[in-house]
Amino acid sequence: MKEIRKNARGILSVILIAFAVLSGYFFYAIYAYGTRWFTTPYNTRLSKAKSSVIAGDILDRNGTVLATTDSEGTRTYPISSDARKALSHVIGDTKANVPTGAETFLSADLLGFSSGIFDRASQFFAEKRRGSDVQLTIDADLQTYIADIFPDEDNGAVAVINYKTGEVLSLYSKPEYDVKYPDDYSEKEAEQGVLINRATQGRYAPGSVFKIITLACALENIPNVQERTFDCEGVYAVTEEMDLKDTDGEGHGELTLKEAFTKSCNIAFGQLALELGEDKLRATAERLGFNGNFLFSDLIVYESLFPKSIGDEGELAWTGVGQGKLTAVPLHFCMIAGAIGNDGMMVEPQLVMTVTDNAGGVKNKLNTKNYQQCFSAEINSVLQEYMIATVEEGTGKKAQVEGYTVAGKTGTAQVNSSGGAYDPHAWFVGYIDSDDCPYAICVVVENGGSGGSVAGKLAGKILKKATEIVK
Ligand SMILES: [Zn+2]
Repeated sequence: MKEIRKNARGILSVILIAFAVLSGYFFYAIYAYGTRWFTTPYNTRLSKAKSSVIAGDILDRNGTVLATTDSEGTRTYPISSDARKALSHVIGDTKANVPTGAETFLSADLLGFSSGIFDRASQFFAEKRRGSDVQLTIDADLQTYIADIFPDEDNGAVAVINYKTGEVLSLYSKPEYDVKYPDDYSEKEAEQGVLINRATQGRYAPGSVFKIITLACALENIPNVQERTFDCEGVYAVTEEMDLKDTDGEGHGELTLKEAFTKSCNIAFGQLALELGEDKLRATAERLGFNGNFLFSDLIVYESLFPKSIGDEGELAWTGVGQGKLTAVPLHFCMIAGAIGNDGMMVEPQLVMTVTDNAGGVKNKLNTKNYQQCFSAEINSVLQEYMIATVEEGTGKKAQVEGYTVAGKTGTAQVNSSGGAYDPHAWFVGYIDSDDCPYAICVVVENGGSGGSVAGKLAGKILKKATEIVK
């Protein structure tokens, strides 16, 4: 009997602990996922509100009105059709075709659920309440410029952030759609995922931009690795079946670690991955947000993925150079580059600057939050030095901006397909080393060919424009 009572007590305390843990999680989830739950189609309060409240305006960081509601209650977009299309994935449409767009994801503010007591009182007798205006951190002109210079025939994504404050300046995704005619896209565009914001949710093979992570892991785990030299003949047999190859295959000859990075040598970085092993490589990647779960208040960002298991040495070597089963999300890589610019500290991306209710009450929503210290000061300064050298004298030369020091890494990611006929994705990630213009960028041009020439060139132009127009 005594035994049973003891067991019962044991079971009861287990249940109580489980209950405490669950309630804790419940409140945490409400806090962290509040906006996410609020904007799901299951929230009937929101659907009702849409018919009884006039949604507030959506503005960019300079006060340009991107979306407003006319006297007949129709949502209108007082910007050029080019700007409207360039910004569609950010604005989002009233049918919630792109549920991550501001129109849906920030509807709690736009429909006035977060407005102040004076606003609510002043609108008490109004036939239709009016929601709050939401000013985004986005620079509409910068994003329209990106759309304008992006290669006509290619799809892809661009993310630009202020790496000190976390303000998201541009989130461009192509193929574009049109918020004004949200159902008006072709079958081909539907197949290409036109309604996905590729900057925040596109998962791409990263190619050589991943060498930043292999480099960081090597600096953390291999003593004196900076003094090593590597011998590259362009091809290296990892196993009997699997060769590691450089893109051009000619061979870089003898290289220091720094040269291997600036010239983007696959042989050196594949060998480093083999020496490090998958656990160490995964640990560094996961510390930077791979396989994680980003919970940001203003926007949904998918995490990049490092494989849960790596089959063999051949796959491990290719993973170290950004191939294999790795996938990466453009905004996430922009945050990684930004962290390196920001002395190793990754800040949370923020999309909302202010929310102004109908009574004129302004809530400043910009609140820089540190997300993660990614690298020690010592290792971060080596990453900075190597990335600056990549743009000064290596594969990233086309990303140079006159009058500024740019740091970066190019990537040319092979795209596996049964036909094998696709051109690789072109990547550039980097940042401007400047207190006045602390901007980080990630450019992905799908099937764009060489990262250095296509994506690096785009990044250089976009960063230059940002230094000129972003206030
Ligand atoms: Zn090489």
